[in-house]
Amino acid sequence: MSATDPVLLSESKEIQDRFSEMIAETLSSVFRSYSDDSAFSGIDPYELRDKVGELGFLPENGRGFEQVLKDTEKVILPHMLRTWSTKYMPHLHSPVLTETICSELIISCFNDSMDSWDQGPAATELEVSMIRGLAGLFGYVPDTSDGCFTSGGSQSNISAIIAARDWYCMERFGWDVKMNGLPPEYGKLRVYTSEISHFSMDKASHILGMGYSAVRKIPVDSKCRIDLKEFERMLKEDVDAGLYPYCAVATFGTTDFGSIDDAKGMRELCDRYGMHLHGDAAYGSGLIMSRRYRDRLSAISLCDSITIDFHKMFLLPISCSAILMKDGERLKCFELHADYLNREEDEEDGYINLVGKSMQTTRRFDALKVFMAFQTRGVEGFSRIIDTAVGNASYFFDRISSDDAFIAPVEPELSSVVFALDMGDDVNKRVRRMLLSEGTVIGQTVKDGRVMLKFTLLNPNLTHDMIDSIIARIKELGVQARC
Ligand SMILES: *Cc1c(COP(=O)(O)O)cnc(C)c1O
Repeated sequence: MSATDPVLLSESKEIQDRFSEMIAETLSSVFRSYSDDSAFSGIDPYELRDKVGELGFLPENGRGFEQVLKDTEKVILPHMLRTWSTKYMPHLHSPVLTETICSELIISCFNDSMDSWDQGPAATELEVSMIRGLAGLFGYVPDTSDGCFTSGGSQSNISAIIAARDWYCMERFGWDVKMNGLPPEYGKLRVYTSEISHFSMDKASHILGMGYSAVRKIPVDSKCRIDLKEFERMLKEDVDAGLYPYCAVATFGTTDFGSIDDAKGMRELCDRYGMHLHGDAAYGSGLIMSRRYRDRLSAISLCDSITIDFHKMFLLPISCSAILMKDGERLKCFELHADYLNREEDEEDGYINLVGKSMQTTRRFDALKVFMAFQTRGVEGFSRIIDTAVGNASYFFDRISSDDAFIAPVEPELSSVVFALDMGDDVNKRVRRMLLSEGTVIGQTVKDGRVMLKFTLLNPNLTHDMIDSIIARIKELGVQARC
């Protein structure tokens, strides 16, 4: 090991000075890679694979930080995806607020873990405090609700489904799933969600041993929201057939269209059938910060649990998500006591061990990012960011709706717009590839059997002029792609 590469941080001034230099050099490398405003270098995958392959894997003797940074700057950084670019708009994958990059540095320097109080005293207390705050923000009663940070919307969703299943089996069959495993009726449990909801529902059902066939997909209306009449009809049909509806999922912001299901209507049906209602707001939760559009989330507090992703509309670094549970008792599905980690007597004395609220054991202090971003920006700062994103989607939709070259089937409620050049599937696919090779990254999906393009507009620096020029470019490429 070279003397210039300290193994660990410490109270030594010399080590701190050297580490400060390493950080400064790293930032310089990062900034040198900000060569233009494109989102991607446009390199072809085979060429990139060769370059990466030449980097080597594990040398016998270390090459020192300087050299490794140089190689990384040369081979990797130029071909990283640049999330901050206004030419990046395919996925719910966001640029990040500057203060939260600083939070990441703090999180890594300390490396506290969330499983037990003695691995993260301030981290534990801040997470608990942020969860209480979030519960209030989303219309829950902080004293009786609960929640936990997770690795993402997929984990938040499966956590909710596990809680719903355990709760339902106890309510309905007096069966303790945690102790006894699955009840005899298990194959007959059903969860209901829209046909365009996120695939994490299917994955969750598989992992839970119920399989994809336990996920009942409800058709959507012309605005891509759950058709309540169909939902009601399916519930009746299934109960008549001897099945057990245990959970429904209302999506607040479908991944492709940003549509928001009618949770009020779903709540009535869930109450009638004794079901848990989960709100998947992985995408749409950011609207809570918007002064102009937050009404669109007004029914979210009717849900028994809520998935929030901070690494989408909130613009926080990956990963950062939370699950909220209206009745905190339902989160006890993850409670467990280990002699080495979270002894009951410690918890009685006020030492909170968050391992009992999570699927994970070792877990990052992601709550710090939410704290620092909320305090830095306030509702006002976040509202401007969210309103810009949603406003840009409306602007884009209005422009292409009045242009014969395009079709755009669904008016956006959030920040995604699905559209196509009215020129057939092949032209649209080709246009997306051509844009990619010139550094503009947009999305592609399917609607009613047709290939569609997609903009997911999260970047608050995107202006109407930029939207106009990309519309013009897409039309030009469409003409080229047809020839
Ligand atoms: C993104 C998304 C998810 C999955 O969240 P991850 O953080 O990517 O795991 C779930 N549901 C919806 C509606 C989403 O948009």
